[in-house]
Amino acid sequence: MAHNVCLVTGDGIGPEIAEATRRCLDAAVAATPEATALHWTVAEAGTDVMATAGTPLPAATVDAIRGADACLKAPITTPVGKGFRSVNVHLRQSLDLYACLRPCKSYPGVRSRYDDIDLVVVRENTEDLYAGIEFEHGTAEGAKLIEAVNALATGRKITTDPAGTGVSIKPISVEATRRIVRFAFEYARANGRQKVTSVHKANIMKFTDGLWLEVSREVAAEYTDIEFEDRIVDNMCMQLVQKPELYDVLVLPNLYGDILSDLCAGLVGGLGVAPGGNIGEKGAIFEATHGSAPKYKGLNKVNPTALILSGMLMLRHIGERAAADRLERAVAAVIAAGKDVTYDMKPHRDDPTAVGTAEMADAIIRALSDV
Ligand code: NAD
Repeated sequence: MAHNVCLVTGDGIGPEIAEATRRCLDAAVAATPEATALHWTVAEAGTDVMATAGTPLPAATVDAIRGADACLKAPITTPVGKGFRSVNVHLRQSLDLYACLRPCKSYPGVRSRYDDIDLVVVRENTEDLYAGIEFEHGTAEGAKLIEAVNALATGRKITTDPAGTGVSIKPISVEATRRIVRFAFEYARANGRQKVTSVHKANIMKFTDGLWLEVSREVAAEYTDIEFEDRIVDNMCMQLVQKPELYDVLVLPNLYGDILSDLCAGLVGGLGVAPGGNIGEKGAIFEATHGSAPKYKGLNKVNPTALILSGMLMLRHIGERAAADRLERAVAAVIAAGKDVTYDMKPHRDDPTAVGTAEMADAIIRALSDV
């Protein structure tokens, strides 16, 4: 028996980092006696497949992801203003991948202002201002909505200029909040974490973030083995910059989660080392935080670490913890040695000793037998 995993190769730098990652994951599993092999199904998405399939997300790709135990996805370009919706957003919605998991950990050798960070950001992926319920200014629907709200909000008006105002709606539900906060606690429990911090702005948005906080507290009461606290989002930003070591697992509504996960990636050295996963009951897609960096396409130049670490998260998700830990140690060893790393990890970006994407993967594979 093998694990069925789907590999979406993406576009831009996607195919080269996908191949580097696939080789590292296969080697990590092969080097771990108790691990089960991976059976890969390769699927396409993005601008490269658009020409032949007429869509950036062929139905066969969605089916392959649905049919797999988990999916590793390389980045995909979202053309600005060309009208097709983001493949990433479409996948998250169609598979109901409600939890976005972003661990942010310091690895010695990665240049950063901090050296001992080990945070996990859990972001709600389906609601909030990101739900995409928006009304453009100047439209009849937008004006109608504003007038209806003005009529309901006795004594207050959301605007006196309905035609000149755009509106975004922020839904926060009991159900979606409960499942994401549970996800955070279950993750904490399964991964030996001590504390969950729920982040909100409940002092101002009493019926959305206030509900989030209330449900967070209810769920926390079910997990007496894990410490719980809450923080107001602006204070949380300051605390993360001043004393990030105080925090462990953070759970946040969609918009704050988006912003704070980049803040936390910045604490540990940026996008090159920031892995992630989008997880739901019907599937899980693991991907780097960075994009398709089209200008580096085909140059065998970019850093494969973020996607390899995303693959490491996928191994944990499918129960291959020992292989995942081995892979993480090998990645850490190569980064710490600082020799076989890509240009962005060298002290100077034009360092002639920098290696290519494939060669960094080769070094990680060699390190697997020593860690
Ligand atoms: P980007 O992350 O692709 O690139 C920004 C810069 O970061 C690059 O120019 C490069 O200098 C650096 N960089 C990124 N990845 C790197 C790596 N692995 N190694 C070394 N350096 C790296 O961001 P962008 O330019 O804003 O976006 C490009 C495209 O990617 C857009 O179409 C965007 O929509 C898409 N995107 C996709 C995803 C995804 O598929 N999950 C995520 C973010 C952005």
